[in-house]
Order: sequence, then structure tokens, then C-alpha cells
Amino acid sequence: MKLLETLEKRFGFLAVPNVVLSIVIAQLFIYAAILVGQVDYASVIFDAQAILRGEWWRLITFLIAPPYLAVTPFQALFLAFYWYIFWMTSQAVESVWGAFRFNVFLLLGLFFSIFGVLLGQLISPAPSLGMTSLAISMSVFFAFATYNPNIQFLLLFVIPVKVKWLAWFAGGFMALSFLFAPSMGYRLLILAPLLNYLIFCRSELTQSLQNRQRQAQFKAAKQAEQAEALHTCTECGATEKSHPERDFRYKVVSNDAICLCEECRLSESDAVTS
Ligand SMILES: [Zn+2]
Repeated sequence: MKLLETLEKRFGFLAVPNVVLSIVIAQLFIYAAILVGQVDYASVIFDAQAILRGEWWRLITFLIAPPYLAVTPFQALFLAFYWYIFWMTSQAVESVWGAFRFNVFLLLGLFFSIFGVLLGQLISPAPSLGMTSLAISMSVFFAFATYNPNIQFLLLFVIPVKVKWLAWFAGGFMALSFLFAPSMGYRLLILAPLLNYLIFCRSELTQSLQNRQRQAQFKAAKQAEQAEALHTCTECGATEKSHPERDFRYKVVSNDAICLCEECRLSESDAVTS
């Protein structure tokens, strides 16, 4: 990401902090305008065929249009949730990267998404492809999950779930949608909005996966070692395999045989005598 550092030095002053908060507020305003009949929802959403016919304003308005109009209370609740998560995750990622880097991330995501959907529309002409700001917020969510994998969300306000599991679930769902997509156009629609995430977070993602693998290997090796060992010191966990130079003895404490290595026996008797 050397290019990004060079760009930040030259154009860092152009960075706009808290862009997503502005997007969320704009969506709320547009939502209100739709409710009072000032704005026609159908004319502001992303409709690839309409855009290719020349309704280019949709390239901007889709971003400040709500992802859907809620009919049931549950849908309204979910929409409120969506706005909150979009804002909260972007705050967290922006605080790690700084405003400039986060701006570039969003702009690239926007560019890839728009380009991907329009290209997909040209490849698979019918039906018209569409997308919402969800395409952008997903890549922000994945970036958030990569940096904060163990933060817990309360699913439906009660069930605690780690962010990494939500991200894996969403990723798995997208992979399935990709596999069973009806056309190449749909595949582009699913894949394109994630390219910015892959560019920005690839190294962090592979690093955390490698760490997991290493931890698992270490744990397995340790377990295998302990399983094989005849004597395991109850104080320090040393075995005759890990510390072959030590002498292991047993003593009975309240009817339980306790194994101690000579190191621990020495320090125990030191503690008693001093
Ligand atoms: Zn010991």
C-alpha cells in the first residue's frame, strides 16, 4: 500500500471524516421525503437498465436512498439496525485507517460496485440489475470483522454472537449465491462490491488465518505430548517428555495422588521453610 501512502501525503488534506454518518443522515432525509410524497422511491434507486438509458443521477441517488422501504415493524427495526451497524462499523474502521484511507476504500468500493453491476447488465441484459448502499456497507462490515473478530453482537437483542461468525456466515451465504446465481451478470453483482475489501484487507485476513492455523497446530502438538506422557506435574504442567531431566514423584493429598516435578517440589519446600 505504498501508493496509498504517497497519495495520502499529497491529497490527505482532501479527506472527509465521518462520510458514512452523512450518508446515513441523507438516507433518513430521503426516507422522510418519500414518506411525505416529495420523492418517488422508484426514481432514485439503482436500476442498471435505466442508468444505461441515461438516468445517470441514480449513480449518486442510490447511495443516499434507503436500501428498502419498511412495511412491517420488524422491517423498520431491521432498517434502524442497518443504519446503526453501517455507522458504527465505519467509525471503527475509520479510526484504524484514518479518514483518507477510509475515503479511498469507500470510493473504490463504489467504483467497483457500479462498474461491476453495469458490466454485468451488459453481459446479461435481462432482467435489470439493481443494488443498494448495502453493497458498500457489506465491505465495511467485513473490514470491521477482520480487525475486531471477537467483538460480540447481540443477535435479536439476546443471543451473543462473535462478529467473525456473522462475517463467515455472510461470506458463506454470498459464496452460495455466487455459485447458484442465474447469470454471469448476477455473479459480477455479488463479487464486485467485495473487491475493495480484498485489496485493503487481504494481508490482515491471511495473517489472522495463519495465526489461527499456528495456534491450532501448537495446541494439537501440546495435547499429543501430554497424552503420551506418563507423568505430568500438577503445578507447572511439565512432563517427562518436555523435561526429561526432571524427576517426577507422587504424593497423596486428601486421597488424590498428586504428581510433582523436582523443581516444584524444591520451590514448595522453600516456601514451607522460609
Ligand atoms: Zn513442576
